[in-house]
Amino acid sequence: MFEIKHTLCPSCSVGCGINVILDNEEIVGTFPYKRHPVNEGKNCLNGRLSAENVTDRHPFDLKALNDAVNKLKSGSNEKTTVIFSGNNSNEDLEAIKSLCESNGFNILAYADNLKGFDSVASYEDIENASNIFVIGNILYENPLVGRRIVRAKNNGAKIYVNDNLENTPTSNIADEFTSVSVKEFIENNNIDEESVIIFNKVDSFEDLNLIESTNSNLLPVYSKSNTKGALNLVEAMSKEDAIELLNNTEILLIFNDDTVNEIDFDFKSISQIVVFSPSENDTTEIADIVIPVKSWLEYDGSFTNCEGLTQKFSSLCESDYMSITDIIEKINEGLE
Ligand code: SF4
Repeated sequence: MFEIKHTLCPSCSVGCGINVILDNEEIVGTFPYKRHPVNEGKNCLNGRLSAENVTDRHPFDLKALNDAVNKLKSGSNEKTTVIFSGNNSNEDLEAIKSLCESNGFNILAYADNLKGFDSVASYEDIENASNIFVIGNILYENPLVGRRIVRAKNNGAKIYVNDNLENTPTSNIADEFTSVSVKEFIENNNIDEESVIIFNKVDSFEDLNLIESTNSNLLPVYSKSNTKGALNLVEAMSKEDAIELLNNTEILLIFNDDTVNEIDFDFKSISQIVVFSPSENDTTEIADIVIPVKSWLEYDGSFTNCEGLTQKFSSLCESDYMSITDIIEKINEGLE
């Protein structure tokens, strides 16, 4: 029997709803969630393909989990680092943070050189703005925020875009397009407190400080569904600090993240890499131990989107795997 169930898209921080089609508990496809207030009936291709990214996993193996616990017991806590990824739910991140704090493990929260801000612009702020400054190809990479920029333009807003690529969907709607450094873009424009700056990439933390110093409404759009939630719990690291920490790491725990494709580092230099993952990827390929876990389709949780809205999602189907929260409970028991 076919069923349609609502959930959230896990493929970027915009926070769109998505419908999943199940045939006798098996996921067979997706289609847009018509009444969802964030995406209003639209989903981009990444969102539509998100359910397909949950690949076949090896069966859960308790021995692998015990091996991971034994590595942690015999290793140095100061040289153990945990990747704090925005792919995880708020509930998983609370459990990961508590594991790190009670054992003195290092937390590495890297978000493409972006960080968290106490106050951010809402999607409504975008539609009501007169001047919008965009850094990056938002219309292509985060289209359901891009749609708000198009609406703002139709409402009379002036759109200034800075990106290293020309002739993109975002540059094509710009009233003014530049391809300069973020520093020059901020310094050369008259950005006031009424303006909105939307960005999904910068070159450094210095750029972020400069963006923040404009006192305008800021909207960082992260590449992962719950990076905003992660950065509500711990501070983001710059790329340089992340690499320095990895250089001092002997055991690396990675919960639900394809870290090797995000940080340019020789991961083979780390003695032990343990990956907890709902799918196979380049990071599981280089791991010493891989422990398959539930995907977001198989447990209850919440994500906080880039405008700060926390939305719950529910398990859509049965699973033989453990959730990250349950895995951490087992690790805590093993470490006692
Ligand atoms: S814009 Fe982001 S959250 Fe929305 S459907 Fe696309 S990938 Fe998913």
